[in-house]
Amino acid sequence: MRPPGHARACPGWSPGHRGVRGLPGHGSGGPDGTDGHHLLGEGGAPTGRATSSRVRLGRRRGWGRSRHHQSIEAADVGEHGVNDYWYSITATLDQAATLGRGPSGGSTRLTLRHVPGSVLRGALAKSWIDRHGPPSTAAPAERRQFEALFEGGAVFRPLFTSGPPVPLSVRFHKRTPRQGCTLTWDAALSDADLPATCPTCRGPLTSSKGELPETLQSLVAGLDDPAPAAPVTRRDLHVQISRTGDTQVTGNLFEQHVVRRGTTVTGRLATTPEAAEVLHTLIASCEGKIVLGGSRSTQGAATLVVSDAPTPTLERVGGTTDQVIVRLAAPGVFVDRLGRPAAAPYGAELRQQLGSPVTVTRAWSDRWTVEGGWHAASGLPKPQERCVAAGASYVLASQNPVTDDALTRLAMRGVGLRRYEGFGALAVTERAESWS
Ligand SMILES: [Zn+2]
Repeated sequence: MRPPGHARACPGWSPGHRGVRGLPGHGSGGPDGTDGHHLLGEGGAPTGRATSSRVRLGRRRGWGRSRHHQSIEAADVGEHGVNDYWYSITATLDQAATLGRGPSGGSTRLTLRHVPGSVLRGALAKSWIDRHGPPSTAAPAERRQFEALFEGGAVFRPLFTSGPPVPLSVRFHKRTPRQGCTLTWDAALSDADLPATCPTCRGPLTSSKGELPETLQSLVAGLDDPAPAAPVTRRDLHVQISRTGDTQVTGNLFEQHVVRRGTTVTGRLATTPEAAEVLHTLIASCEGKIVLGGSRSTQGAATLVVSDAPTPTLERVGGTTDQVIVRLAAPGVFVDRLGRPAAAPYGAELRQQLGSPVTVTRAWSDRWTVEGGWHAASGLPKPQERCVAAGASYVLASQNPVTDDALTRLAMRGVGLRRYEGFGALAVTERAESWS
């Protein structure tokens, strides 16, 4: 018998969607059994079918359509500030990259193992500026283009090698599981307490700290197609060369951690029609070649591929219509009504998005980070925010049933402040739809 609260792959973060070998106790995120739709995790295997996001009937747009067609469609829609289009973005590193930690002030420079939304946004903005000049001096029409994509018309979400961080509500084996073991237990799916040891092998379990799934040996061990066999990151050492160029400067040794060349990361991007058009033109003009992260002269060259993605949604609790699970795929910036840091999304924001009063009934959000960054266009550090760490999970109870449309919109929009830079991006599930 399976313990309560377990046994369902959580599409959108669990490596289970990559296919679990010989571990029958673990769901694979396959057909969901209710409507025949296939749930596909973000960053999971491509379906091989042309699919598209569609928020409402008649609102879909193929990534490959002509700019002319898109201009007409965007004008017809005539809406601003609504994220209507949902794209898949895949970046393959053509050079090693140092991602998203900013200058540390010491001689060691660390890297993240994924691409934060702010890094993707910065790389695309730099590419636009290389072609059009700074937006402050650009012609009004061009400046409006820049603003449409980078100042509110798109939600730049993080890109991962195998999916967003494992939710804090999840437990898994502390050591390698045996054949037949359940891989994950998720407290968000049930009110029952989770076991402290695996009922099958009696091995101890541990709670997620928001790790990326590919870094957890007990999860990777069950995969048919394990995330990169070689480590994703590498450490480089440099010395400072003297001005004459023939000797090294004594005592100046620098260490840099990089994500390896050839690494592929995948994520999603939500845009308005106007932003989609600017993005389409930009990707076409740079042929998908951008530079991610720091040390841009020698590092970070990457190739982007953008395509349509299936309609996203959020998980409901066990077949209910009024309870929803929200999981952070990126750090969330939340404040209370006085502007002080908060551990959960603001109630009024959730009420507005879901259409009725909402309470957070359970939360796993006790890990915090401070996030800053570098604003390349202005050459200044970005304001630092106290954030709830990625992996935080919340069970929301709504007074009235939550519609599928509302869930899709919230999935695309995210929660909290600075969402356009990827803060507050949510782990989503997706329904594959055949293109028509
Ligand atoms: Zn076990």
